[in-house]
Amino acid sequence: MDDRLREVARAAIGFMPEAEGMALYRAGLSGARVGPLLEIGSYCGKSAVYLGAAAAEAGTVLFTIDHHRGSEENQAGWEHHDARLVDARTGRMDTLPFFRRTVEDAGLEGSVVAVVGPSAVVGAHWGTASGLVFIDGGHGSEPAHRDYETWAPKVAAGGLLAIHDVFSDPADGGRPPFEIYTRALESGLFDEVASARCGSLRVLRRRA
Ligand code: SAH
Ligand code: MG
Repeated sequence: MDDRLREVARAAIGFMPEAEGMALYRAGLSGARVGPLLEIGSYCGKSAVYLGAAAAEAGTVLFTIDHHRGSEENQAGWEHHDARLVDARTGRMDTLPFFRRTVEDAGLEGSVVAVVGPSAVVGAHWGTASGLVFIDGGHGSEPAHRDYETWAPKVAAGGLLAIHDVFSDPADGGRPPFEIYTRALESGLFDEVASARCGSLRVLRRRA
């Protein structure tokens, strides 16, 4: 991945350590051979730079879904709140302007397509099969399981399902991402790509 894009990703606000971002980029390149890439949880565009770089290189696109109002854990008073992201007019979070700036700085406006809305609403009307689905939206039990149920079936045969913030030790982080990773393995539809493991990122391939 281009050094300039790596620098844009590093500078972006967000929750994607560089080593995990690079692992995501490599998974993106692999998934892009099967179909377009899709992300749930755009936030300020940090992970979208890694996936968007892969999409651009492979001649496909990244669709990235977010209502841009923040997850429960991003709201004021919670651990992952960032006061810079609050719209002074309404007092609500709005990460969309930050997302747009990141994608603009990366020069990826032709390859990264923002889909603004609740992931379940988008998913109910989404027919395109993906070469890679990356789940990094709401990390509570309800949103994480719903994202799994909505989006895992949209991974094309031979495509990849990537999940972020998977911690096998509860001391390291919340359970729902780990639970959906376990569900994917137990479904019999996916096999883990062990070589793609990095930090809390897990990648699974859908059986043909
Ligand atoms: N991938 C990002 C981090 C994502 S944070 C990075 O690299 O930094 C999680 C995001 O999921 C938040 O921006 C939040 O608004 C979004 N989100 C949470 N629940 C959602 C839902 N039901 N529909 C759409 N987006 C949601
Ligand atoms: Mg994450």
